[in-house]
Amino acid sequence: MSEPVLEIDNLSVQFNLKRGVLRAIDGVSFQIAKGETFGLVGESGSGKSVTARSIMRLIPTPPGEIASGTVRFQGRDLYQMSDNEIREIRGQNIAMVFQEPMNALNPVFTVGSQIGDALRTNMGLSKLEARERTIEMLQLVGIPSPTARIDNYVHEFSGGMRQRVMLAMALSCDPTFLIADEPTTALDVTIQAVILELITSMIERFDMSLLFITHNLGVVAHACDKIGVMYASHLVEMGTKDEIFANPQHPYTKGLLRSIPRLDVQEKFLTPIDGTVCNMMDPPMGCKFNPRCTEAMDVCRERIPEFRELSPGHFAACHLHDQPTV
Ligand code: SF4
Repeated sequence: MSEPVLEIDNLSVQFNLKRGVLRAIDGVSFQIAKGETFGLVGESGSGKSVTARSIMRLIPTPPGEIASGTVRFQGRDLYQMSDNEIREIRGQNIAMVFQEPMNALNPVFTVGSQIGDALRTNMGLSKLEARERTIEMLQLVGIPSPTARIDNYVHEFSGGMRQRVMLAMALSCDPTFLIADEPTTALDVTIQAVILELITSMIERFDMSLLFITHNLGVVAHACDKIGVMYASHLVEMGTKDEIFANPQHPYTKGLLRSIPRLDVQEKFLTPIDGTVCNMMDPPMGCKFNPRCTEAMDVCRERIPEFRELSPGHFAACHLHDQPTV
């Protein structure tokens, strides 16, 4: 792998709540190289969005707390940076798009003034230059008549068009890294495919690295080279897209794959994973997937499995892969 752009090492984040401690992510490690696209997949509550927000240092503290680990971007520890330095990184190097553009775009300003402000602050452009660059970006992401629409407010755009505007804003300052947190989840299926295609084409065009967060393994099949699967705060499997799809090694990944609609299999044969994600305030002992796992053994209820490398670049945390003791 070429030099990593992002390195997350043994990251644990917890929330200290009145009801107790909620461990949102526990000992998560992965790296993303320049130009690499990494999909982080898991059900709601698995910790994937907390991982994304930790990278941007957007975890509210308190109640949140980085309990252990480091997050390095281009070799620099993001948690050792001053507030000004992290603002610069967010403005110029790492951009983020969310599921709901209304959370990122301000309804009382035109989209042009919001993108233009970001360009003037982060790239030092004049008002005129910022307006020209904004029109260029709106055009690039497929907003029709950008010279007219630049003066519209966010509520004047449809759902898919809002995602395009948010992408234009995210890409306007020429970032090297994009975090996309469920960017297509709230959209109609046909629009989802179009926005996904737009994101992947922008990644290529701007030569960026991508961290794509989704609950849908089918979506990352189109967008990502490498996949990490999260379950109940742990990374449980990681490998190339081809390895994960052709040779999954964790029962949870296998379950997710069985639940993806496929063109060659009739929908009635889809098999959802039984049960729901455990209560993270009171998780089960051992492997957190054990109450739902059809292959669970006694050891699974006693010890957390180690996240081990099974073949070059392919990792899984499951006692089925424990070495036999002699
Ligand atoms: Fe299933 Fe045990 Fe593997 Fe967990 S460790 S996934 S319970 S077999």
